Amino acid sequence: MKRIVVLRLGHRLLRDQRMTTHVALTARALGAEGVLLTSGDKSIEQNLDDVAKRWGGEFYIRSDVNWKGEIKKWKDVGGKVCHLTMYGINLPDIIDEIKDTEKLMVIVGAEKVPAEVYDLADWNVAIGHQPHSEVTALAIFLDRLQEGGELKRGFKGGLKVIPKRRGKCVKRG
Ligand code: SAM
Repeated sequence: MKRIVVLRLGHRLLRDQRMTTHVALTARALGAEGVLLTSGDKSIEQNLDDVAKRWGGEFYIRSDVNWKGEIKKWKDVGGKVCHLTMYGINLPDIIDEIKDTEKLMVIVGAEKVPAEVYDLADWNVAIGHQPHSEVTALAIFLDRLQEGGELKRGFKGGLKVIPKRRGKCVKRG
């Protein structure tokens, strides 16, 4: 199985709290093993821990990381790095090159991303060339990377949705 880790660069306190939480939730739901945050925000860790406890999975979240150090460590063990940016190569034109990577770090920004990230990345990839959001970019990228397989994955949690055409059903177990 592929190993995917998401590195979230930057986080403006309060302003980005919801966005960073959604980056982490998206990473967890769509097949990443964990998320690395360059900021420290206990409420985000708490939120993700609660979700993982109730819904299952092995997801981890590490805060206050040194982004350059994490990229270096990842590359030292043979990992590749993909930075999502509207200025990169458009996803449909590059995804075939990335698909077979076994260990992939996906970087998304918040505010302006340091220029060095563009050089350190193995790929700078655009999800279209219009500005939108890190959550959207991450979701589309992870889905294309795994060709939808991430949606069929089980989480073995205490809570499980029983799909219904109408209404809601959650099994506790
Ligand atoms: N102005 C910032 C910059 O120069 O990097 C972009 C800020 S944007 C609100 C936050 C993040 O969303 C970006 O760092 C990037 O990871 C992601 N993003 C937004 N639009 C994107 C796109 N079209 N393709 C890929 N990533 C995108």
